[in-house]
Amino acid sequence: MTEGDELHDVVVVGAGFAGIAMGVALKASGRDFLILEKADEIGGTWRENRYPGCACDVPAHLYSFSFEPNPYWSKTFADADEIQDYLLYCVEKYALRPHLRTDATVQHARYDAATGVWTVTVASAWGELRQLRARALVLGVGALHEPVVPDLPGLETFEGELRHTATWDRGLSVQGRRVGVIGTGSSGVQIIPPLAEDAAHLTVFQRTPAWVLPRDNTDYSEATIDRFERHPMVMRAHRTQLRATHDARGRAFTDHPGLLRAMQLRARRHLAAAVSDPTLRERLTPGYTMGCKRILLSDDYYPAMARPDVTLATDAIERVEPRAVVTADGTRHEVDFLVLATGFDPIGSYRYLGVTGLDGRVLGQEFAHDAQTYLGVTVPAFPNLFVLLGPNTLLGHTSVLLMLEAQVALTMRLLDERDRRGARAVQVRPEVVPGFMAEIDRRSEGSVWESGCHSWYLDDAGRNRTLWPGSVREYERRLTRPELVDYTFG
Ligand code: NAP
Repeated sequence: MTEGDELHDVVVVGAGFAGIAMGVALKASGRDFLILEKADEIGGTWRENRYPGCACDVPAHLYSFSFEPNPYWSKTFADADEIQDYLLYCVEKYALRPHLRTDATVQHARYDAATGVWTVTVASAWGELRQLRARALVLGVGALHEPVVPDLPGLETFEGELRHTATWDRGLSVQGRRVGVIGTGSSGVQIIPPLAEDAAHLTVFQRTPAWVLPRDNTDYSEATIDRFERHPMVMRAHRTQLRATHDARGRAFTDHPGLLRAMQLRARRHLAAAVSDPTLRERLTPGYTMGCKRILLSDDYYPAMARPDVTLATDAIERVEPRAVVTADGTRHEVDFLVLATGFDPIGSYRYLGVTGLDGRVLGQEFAHDAQTYLGVTVPAFPNLFVLLGPNTLLGHTSVLLMLEAQVALTMRLLDERDRRGARAVQVRPEVVPGFMAEIDRRSEGSVWESGCHSWYLDDAGRNRTLWPGSVREYERRLTRPELVDYTFG
């Protein structure tokens, strides 16, 4: 272990959208900072998810930083490569490379109450351990980072190729292979159509059908791109309009679930247009209210499911054998390539980071029990710690980057206030948190997310600990004009 005396004003963990947004703000402020990234390149989820069909289901002009509009988005919904290129561009434009350390995995971080400083232990890709210190720690580790590998009997005996969507390699080919995909969430419906094209046969193992709406992904014409480039105001107006339509949808989740039932009709028509077999249609029709799980957008998912060389298996998976998946009805589905589109553990990243605050409290353990935060950013007993895109700050209807930018603004404001007051530490008052969590619970109670389906939005106790149950505007207001009395500076 190298015990350096490297001290930074701020250490940011993760170089995805969150770490980069934080880096841009820190750079502008002139503060000293370091971004630690465990992979060999920036990008987070957009670097990591390389499966065929991977794309964002939020329009690109909304799923980009407000401070870095990009006239060149090629189509409404950008694919993973285009988003990764955008992030690489941001890193260069805002000169973040000198502040970035890749191949640097944070193993643990411990807060010292006497000094207000975090000691961070970092492992390099070649196994060297190094300690550094920080006057503030910002976690931008992402909720969609730790893949869920289902606990299926016999999975370890499978002899074919086994891949989670998040561990896909570019060179992988399913050409001529019998492929099975487990899972029909966002990742599943994206990967299924291209796999159906290439595989000898595809079996889709569906536990719960998804509500799927048309995607209508259209290319921006050269003339439009040219107009956006020459008239940034026009591009901003386009973003504003996208934002307004998406914001309006958000109200349906918490206040007007009836509107979602109306949208179900559109989804049913979308299904009927592609799938003529009434039995298959029935099996692909969800039994829960739309929005309880993430609403999916796809134009090629249902046509793929209607192909003669695609089988839909809806009986529970009983076991996995070396070359087959056996379902509860006794069918042996022979596969030599098995894809797990089984999602992520939203607090998985915190579980693996050993972040220890006051009184030996470990963040991952706290979050596993009940992710109690204040506005998703600060956590009682964890001074000088800021969480980006943390619990109760994700969204089901629009761009999370709006939330992220508000969180970055709050973090900067609290750091500035701490320093202005000559304090060592800033932390949320513990007595503020129960009221905030009660508000989250109360506002989630009537929401569609708690209307009876199983999803990664809910924790083991069935509480919403993932999504923000209000409008983005309200969240922005609360973070950009914070109540400083809710924090202690000492
Ligand atoms: P997900 O939404 O959690 O879906 C996981 C799927 O795997 C579900 O269909 C689930 O079935 C199934 N599953 C899990 N364990 C299983 C088991 N033991 N047996 C059978 N089926 C099992 O995960 P995801 O599709 O990776 O998406 C996660 C989130 O990532 C999304 O909600 C979205 O926020 C984000 N994402 C976004 C995009 C995008 O376009 N922006 C793309 C990909 C992902 P049940 O429904 O029955 O649980």
